[in-house]
Amino acid sequence: MELWIQPCAPCADLYGQPAVVEPHDTLTLAVSGAVKDAQAEEHYTCMRCGAAFVRIIAGEQRRQVWMLLNAGQH
Ligand SMILES: [Zn+2]
Repeated sequence: MELWIQPCAPCADLYGQPAVVEPHDTLTLAVSGAVKDAQAEEHYTCMRCGAAFVRIIAGEQRRQVWMLLNAGQH
C-alpha cells in the first residue's frame, strides 16, 4: 500500500462522515484480531484507491466518525 493515496470519490465523500453511515462498495473490513479493543473501531481498506479507514464506533458521539488514515493533501 502506498503511504499517501489520492482517495477515490466514494472515499472522499465518506471521510469525516458519522460512523452510522454505511461503508461503500469497495471498502472491505480488515481483520481486526490485532486490535486491542475490537468493539471500539473497525478498520477498512478501499479496493479501488487503497485508502485505509477507521470507523470509530464507540466513545463520545461526536467522535464516532470515519477517519481516513492515508490521504494526501489536496
Ligand atoms: Zn477509495
